[in-house]
Amino acid sequence: MKILAVIGAGQMGQGIAQVAARAGFQVLLADADLTLATSAKRVIERAVARQVEREKIGADEARALLDRIEPSDTARLAGDRLAGEIDFAIEAIPERLALKQQLFAQLDASLPARTVLASNTSSVSITALGSVTKRPDRVIGMHFMNPVPVMELVEIVRGLATSDATLVQTRALAELLGKRSVLASDSPGFIVNRILVPMLNEAVFALESALGTAEDIDLAMKLGTHQPMGPLALADLIGLDTVLAICESLHRELGDDKYRPAPLLRRYVAAGWLGKKTGRGFHSY
Ligand code: NAD
Repeated sequence: MKILAVIGAGQMGQGIAQVAARAGFQVLLADADLTLATSAKRVIERAVARQVEREKIGADEARALLDRIEPSDTARLAGDRLAGEIDFAIEAIPERLALKQQLFAQLDASLPARTVLASNTSSVSITALGSVTKRPDRVIGMHFMNPVPVMELVEIVRGLATSDATLVQTRALAELLGKRSVLASDSPGFIVNRILVPMLNEAVFALESALGTAEDIDLAMKLGTHQPMGPLALADLIGLDTVLAICESLHRELGDDKYRPAPLLRRYVAAGWLGKKTGRGFHSY
């Protein structure tokens, strides 16, 4: 296992690419177009430069890490000189089933038959992604946590058709990337988001019901329950569009109204206030 493709160069794709390059993998980092992938690499360069300043990584190692990340785009991936050697493709595009299925069909048609197609989805069914490919045995969930370079966990999600060999290979990859893994069933939200996202959504209901200001709700949960950040700040970090998509998926798939998204969350997403990535969410950045 030497060459990885990361498809979707947003906040998660950037983190996965950085961690994989640090672990010595050659990484093709693809977005919908090359300009987006190139600017994503610049964001990684700044993150790595901060690590050098903090003496977490040496300057030579940082240069070598960055040299191992090659920006690309989805359409061009199959034509890349390294395409035939990609062992793993990790998808991190927006949390929409139709979009992900379209990409999985495209990757299945263009990448070598042995390549494992992994998804970093937070809530979409791995079985549903595998079903649009001719290799459902080599489709698996690899759910990294945000920020990827910091968070130790990867949830590994096995679809109905995922093979034992793919599972073993994926657990080995997680370990090579310096992560600990848990095996979660292919159920909406898996383990972490099934428990976390209803809490984040409840915090938005609390704000909507004026139980406190955004600052006080976050401070109360941070100090009162010993969490590193409050739920509204965490929702902002994840991205409110992603939080809404996970809530909708839990609500739709599990059919229980306790998962209904808070109306205020919908309004923020409709306004384009998506949290940290757009500079404004429940807090300002
Ligand atoms: P993001 O919006 O930051 O990035 C998504 C990227 O995908 C964008 O750069 C976009 O241009 C690109 N893209 C869209 N269509 C594409 C295509 N067809 N081919 C290639 N690139 C394409 O989103 P994110 O926060 O990085 O989330 C990505 C995935 O990771 C989602 O499935 C999300 O649920 C999951 N996830 C997110 C978090 C989080 O905290 N944000 C944590 C774990 C998992």
